[in-house]
Amino acid sequence: MTVLRAVFLDRDGTIGGTGGGMHPFEFQLYDFAPVAIKTLNDLGIKVFLFTNQTRVGRGFFTEKVLLKGFKLMEEELARHDAFLDGIYYCPHNLEEGCTCQKPNIGLLLQAKEEHGLNLEACYIVGDTGGSDMLAASKAGTKMVLVRTGWGEGSLTKYRSHWLGIDPDYVAKDLLEAVEWISLDIQNQHSVS
Ligand SMILES: [Mg+2]
Ligand SMILES: [Zn+2]
Repeated sequence: MTVLRAVFLDRDGTIGGTGGGMHPFEFQLYDFAPVAIKTLNDLGIKVFLFTNQTRVGRGFFTEKVLLKGFKLMEEELARHDAFLDGIYYCPHNLEEGCTCQKPNIGLLLQAKEEHGLNLEACYIVGDTGGSDMLAASKAGTKMVLVRTGWGEGSLTKYRSHWLGIDPDYVAKDLLEAVEWISLDIQNQHSVS
């Protein structure tokens, strides 16, 4: 039986950037991000971007600029034969009370509907406990915290923001996260 799984990747602090939001044209992928994403592509696992972009709602830049930034990022991935299967983002500010801003799981439910996913078989990789890991916990996905971006801070100074939640794995970076996910999937196949 085919398990309808996917990997959801946070953007800032996980596949590039600094952790905090930034202008879409300033965002840079980490050097290792394309090869990590290509590894998932080659395994036949869907890869989705899963990102809060509240700076749209807060008026820092327009949604059009955000989309242009995504396009530039996808062009960079394509130069390394890597691709995303989709991009899910929240453009709202907190006051709008939307259901898509992480740690809400509206975007995950949307992806589940659109791609027929089994969320329990999915993975979320992110650097922020209070948004990425909390969303994973609510949605019942597996979760990998990366130490890049705000990852170290999530494990120390901001641990109180996600008390009681333990990631399935804490990885040095996205590359190590993808290695762990690959092994985890292999192990599931060998026991079933
Ligand atoms: Mg992040
Ligand atoms: Zn939203």
